[in-house]
Amino acid sequence: MTEIIYAGLVDNSTLDYPKKITAVVYLCGCPYRCPWCQNKDLLTMNSPNCRKTDTKEIIKELQENYLIEAVCVTGGEPLMQEETLELLKEIKKETKLLLKIDSNCYYPKRLMKALPYLDYFTTDVKAPLDQRYGKVAGLPEQWEEIVAKVKESHEILKKWDNPKEARTTIIPGLLETKEEIRETAGIVKEVGFTEYTIQQFRPENTLDPSYEKKQSPPRELMAELAREAKKKLPNTRVQIVTLEGGFEEIKNK
Ligand code: SF4
Repeated sequence: MTEIIYAGLVDNSTLDYPKKITAVVYLCGCPYRCPWCQNKDLLTMNSPNCRKTDTKEIIKELQENYLIEAVCVTGGEPLMQEETLELLKEIKKETKLLLKIDSNCYYPKRLMKALPYLDYFTTDVKAPLDQRYGKVAGLPEQWEEIVAKVKESHEILKKWDNPKEARTTIIPGLLETKEEIRETAGIVKEVGFTEYTIQQFRPENTLDPSYEKKQSPPRELMAELAREAKKKLPNTRVQIVTLEGGFEEIKNK
């Protein structure tokens, strides 16, 4: 029996795996404290929303759901718990579902062990790989350690040939300029991500309440930043996601 700290499962998302109806498994714990995070109830293992469960219970729920074609394991940071590796292994062994995780690249050794079970991988490229990364992750003092781990994970991902998506959130006062997006797009290119999603910060239920007073960047700015990224990434699918327009692909001019 493997126990894992888990916050629940959403049955049939259409947003969490490209073109597939997906179950989303929410695991607890995250090493970062992004001030703009909207999953604040999942960041610690002892959050009232989190409970221990046997991985077999999660597998059973997935097996009983005849609608889904894929499963996305997310958090928090799913690789914070070593037991997640067992969960991924069991999902692949006990179901025929396509499998994806959303990870922040803080655990390169666990990432290496997880990749053989995965069909798809999504991660944040939160900022250029310097002090700014620590600031966006809410841990400015630890930026060197964080950047070293993210870089180690990127080296592993470079050798992994399945589809992989990078995401950057545009956050007022933290990450919002064309120059910053040119730099993050450069990372996306170097690692060989197949998809790049630029998403809009939302001022709702944020970890740092002062972020609830900030404005979402407008769709026009999002599109402008994505066009800047696309110049660096002519062969990568680049898209924005906004409240106003949903998902929109940005094409070469
Ligand atoms: S947004 Fe940051 S703090 Fe929130 S779950 Fe993701 S990595 Fe963790």
